[in-house]
Amino acid sequence: MTDLIAHIRDVIDQHDERNGHAGGALSCGCGATHLSDHSSHVAQAIVNRLRYVSAAFDEELTVLEGAE
Ligand SMILES: [Zn+2]
Repeated sequence: MTDLIAHIRDVIDQHDERNGHAGGALSCGCGATHLSDHSSHVAQAIVNRLRYVSAAFDEELTVLEGAE
């Protein structure tokens, strides 16, 4: 079974907020720079990861169903 919490934790760990330039733009642990809103950036990354997890999960189900 897919552990969603572990996936989300993973994403958060990868996207830790870095204080960037004095101008107020933020950068991120993933390498993204010039972020105006780090929280939205992380939220988007979580959504992307969940889509990927959900696709992998669907595929797994399809394989299991096909095996019956
Ligand atoms: Zn990031």
